[in-house]
Amino acid sequence: MTELTSLKGIGEKTAGALMRLGISCAEDLIFDLPRDYECFEEPKEIFRLTPGRTEAVECVLSRDGVINRFNGMTIVNVYISDMTGRLQLSWYNMPYIKQTLKAGSHFVFRGRVYEKNGRLIMSQPKIYRPEDYKKGYLGRLMPVYRLKEGVSSKQRLNASKEALSSDFFRELSAEFLPQDIREGLGLFREEQALLSVHFPRDRQQLSDAMKRICFDELLFFFLLQKRRKLLFSAQGSDYRCRPDIRFLKLSAGLPFELTTAQSEAVKTITRDMSSGSIMNRLLEGDVGSGKTIVAFLAMAFAAFNGCETALLVPTEVLAKQHYQSFTELFPEEDTGLRCLLLCGSIQKKEKERAYELIREHKTDVIIGTHALFQEKVDYDRLGLIVTDEQHRFGVAQREAMKQKGGLPHMLFMSATPIPRTLSMILYGDMDVSILSSRPEGRIPIKNTVVGPQYRRNAYKFIYDEIKKGHRAYIVCPAIDKEGEEGLPEQEGDSLQDVETLTAKLRGIFPDSVRIGCLHGRMKPSEKDEAMEAFKNGETELLVATTVIEVGVDVPEATVMMIENADRFGLSQLHQLRGRVGRGSAQSYCIMINTSESEEAAERLRILRDSNDGFFIASEDLRLRGPGDLFGLRQSGEMGFVTADIYRDSKLLGPAREAAEKLLTKDPELTAPEHKRLSERLSGYMKRCYYV
Ligand code: ADP
Ligand code: MG
Repeated sequence: MTELTSLKGIGEKTAGALMRLGISCAEDLIFDLPRDYECFEEPKEIFRLTPGRTEAVECVLSRDGVINRFNGMTIVNVYISDMTGRLQLSWYNMPYIKQTLKAGSHFVFRGRVYEKNGRLIMSQPKIYRPEDYKKGYLGRLMPVYRLKEGVSSKQRLNASKEALSSDFFRELSAEFLPQDIREGLGLFREEQALLSVHFPRDRQQLSDAMKRICFDELLFFFLLQKRRKLLFSAQGSDYRCRPDIRFLKLSAGLPFELTTAQSEAVKTITRDMSSGSIMNRLLEGDVGSGKTIVAFLAMAFAAFNGCETALLVPTEVLAKQHYQSFTELFPEEDTGLRCLLLCGSIQKKEKERAYELIREHKTDVIIGTHALFQEKVDYDRLGLIVTDEQHRFGVAQREAMKQKGGLPHMLFMSATPIPRTLSMILYGDMDVSILSSRPEGRIPIKNTVVGPQYRRNAYKFIYDEIKKGHRAYIVCPAIDKEGEEGLPEQEGDSLQDVETLTAKLRGIFPDSVRIGCLHGRMKPSEKDEAMEAFKNGETELLVATTVIEVGVDVPEATVMMIENADRFGLSQLHQLRGRVGRGSAQSYCIMINTSESEEAAERLRILRDSNDGFFIASEDLRLRGPGDLFGLRQSGEMGFVTADIYRDSKLLGPAREAAEKLLTKDPELTAPEHKRLSERLSGYMKRCYYV
């Protein structure tokens, strides 16, 4: 471990900001890969500029820049034109820039372009001398990192440079893959991969570097998976269950009849847990197929057999929802099942009490977030762990869970159906049950994809639905004007955010419509209140970020409007849409496409035309060829840090084979030639646990 402050240019303050990003040592800096790259392209003619993109133009100014004052702000403007069009360049609160903008001077300007009232504007462009631009920038890719208040993009960039040229880097990047595997697949050496992923010479080099880095991550995934499989099959279960009369009574008294697929799944799961071996099962089913009740029954079955059972979910909102459903469905007075909620946000005293109840086995069903696996939690007989929305968790979290209770039965539930071919590789170590149908009486969701000019109509439509007693969601990609991930968005960008939109809608809708908002930066208690109010109908319209993506179940909601839908992945959109269509009324999904690209339109058409998660997943795979390695944004499936099961689908097979080969020779990876591999694997687990 090398202290962050030992690097040139990093003081206590910057180190503190980096810590908040989960970067606690210099080594972490190297594995915190750019989240995107900026490409310095050839300057363009004005009519070729695309609003929404960062572009470059070259020109000789025909007039001086002028200063305008507006609402206490200064704006320096200069207008340029070529044969093909006219462009306004604007700088906010930078009056001194006027000095530079003299008629007759020749520059390259590079900045974000947008369109306002039919005019094309470039805001806050950087200014280069043409020869500097051509020599120093053209064709280069500059990394863009995650940032937090207290660390600027320049500081972050320099920190990477420093880290990559430090002494510890050589040791850190020592090759750990056997030569035959590396060369057989034509992979970069580790050192070259790490250097070029931060500072690629060109797209080809970046793509080669990414290939190596994603391969490593997939290899780690399969190494952990195979090791677990070996462990599981070698041992019988300490938690063998038996049929129980209380369980039969419970199943018979449900408020609805289980679908055939649900009953089958319950039967298989109880059989697994009674077999004497350890259950390791995946329950796969599209959004709304009714996985929760299957999990609840599995937990009840294990609890009646004297086990503690835990349900792990990715968000507190979902944990609370499940806790509420469980206690309503199976009240302790009737069933004897003691249910407990455990999340990061509950009061310290309450938490201590929860730890005690768990330790003394005075509780049966524990529902919570990763707080379930804090060191202080000490289970008595943890016999079954269920994870909901499994695709949100990484393999390292699974490992952490396993270590908590000897070897409990494991049930994983995933709402993101991934293409069959991939799922067979990724879940190769598990048995699979599929909920192929939805509960009866559901009407398919009606979908529409429209441009921003349709917003007003959509609001009107939502108002009509609310008047019928229904509820609606509007999802935005950003929380506030700061934009995504705290990066300032520039004026004119059409990115919708929860705070601004909520305020705006309160002006648009009549006062009788009660509007709530929900996002990840609210205090946990505020989130609860917002969710609770929407659930019980106190608010009828909920403006939210994707925090509601997983699991939220409000059957009265009939409209899902998704802002900037082009910004989301297909599976994510499908999940969001799954928040409606959960009751018996007709539901609608309105996707606002704010992109002009044909590609975005094609992707959204797939969603418009299908409500079938499996089909959507396979289309997602088809559309993202291995070609688009350039966009680092990944789908977030399976908790990977860098790899993406769709984009890197061709690497899955080879990574799995490599893992097999390594473990066949050396099951514990203790041979001297695997020392470096073993170290990297544990380093990876630590890191991805915190991502
Ligand atoms: P998901 O698979 O997306 O997790 P849920 O478990 O949240 O789906 O179920 C969706 C909705 O369907 C819930 O409101 C649940 O109560 C209801 N539900 C589940 N199973 C049935 C069934 N067999 N009949 C009627 N409604 C059901
Ligand atoms: Mg669910």
